Amino acid sequence: SREFMQQTEKLTVVGELAAGIAHEIRNPLTSLKGFTQLLGDRIDSNQDYMDIMITEIERINTIVSELLLLAKPRRMDFHEINIAMVLKNIITLMEAQANLYGVTLKCEYCDDLPEFIIHGEENKLKQVFINILKNAIEAMEQGGDILISAQPIGNEIEITFIDSGCGIPPELLSKVGQPFFTTKEKGTGLGLMVCHSIIESHQGTMVIDSVRGKGTTVSIKLPLYQTQLKTIEYSS
Ligand code: ADP
Ligand code: MG
Repeated sequence: SREFMQQTEKLTVVGELAAGIAHEIRNPLTSLKGFTQLLGDRIDSNQDYMDIMITEIERINTIVSELLLLAKPRRMDFHEINIAMVLKNIITLMEAQANLYGVTLKCEYCDDLPEFIIHGEENKLKQVFINILKNAIEAMEQGGDILISAQPIGNEIEITFIDSGCGIPPELLSKVGQPFFTTKEKGTGLGLMVCHSIIESHQGTMVIDSVRGKGTTVSIKLPLYQTQLKTIEYSS
């Protein structure tokens, strides 16, 4: 399995740099895309070439957007959130896209998940779940089920995503999550790196287990919000 180790310092430097560069790249990219489209409409150019140019510009834009999300040293907007609810919302959001690829999202006890309160940033955690589900869907060319579950273990909540997709060969497992590592033609190789960075900022852990040809399990553990602590404070 692939455990994501503490790389905080490295990631912070990469993040700062990436955010700065990403910002600078975005504006010229937008005008480049605009003028390319305009040119395509104006001159009698080869439409295939124009389409390739625009697709490639969009690809750069995707990479740049993901890099921007790595912007690290900014204030986190942490709140008490019900992680079960966040998970449910994401499943609802992704269901249609999954079905389009013949994939069904199955959430164990989804309708009666108890409240699991954690301290975190809702949008960031949503982004993590979306990235993981996208990977799972992309790995299941034949379609199938993705099993999603959440259960408390000690002071933590464990959220697992189990797909029955292509899996990851053992020799590649250690590369997964490294910046720009991708096996996809249109991949950026930044999704899991962003996930890891977000989970780490929530004092959580992320582990990937995979068997080639069988499927992949992504497990995330996040500390539950210690409401007991308040009780202790009051009683002393
Ligand atoms: P991207 O999706 O853009 O390739 P990610 O960081 O999200 O970048 O994933 C990196 C690589 O990890 C993928 O290209 C793929 O090879 C592998 N991977 C991630 N999730 C899965 C999965 N659920 N099943 C199989 N392979 C996966
Ligand atoms: Mg991805």
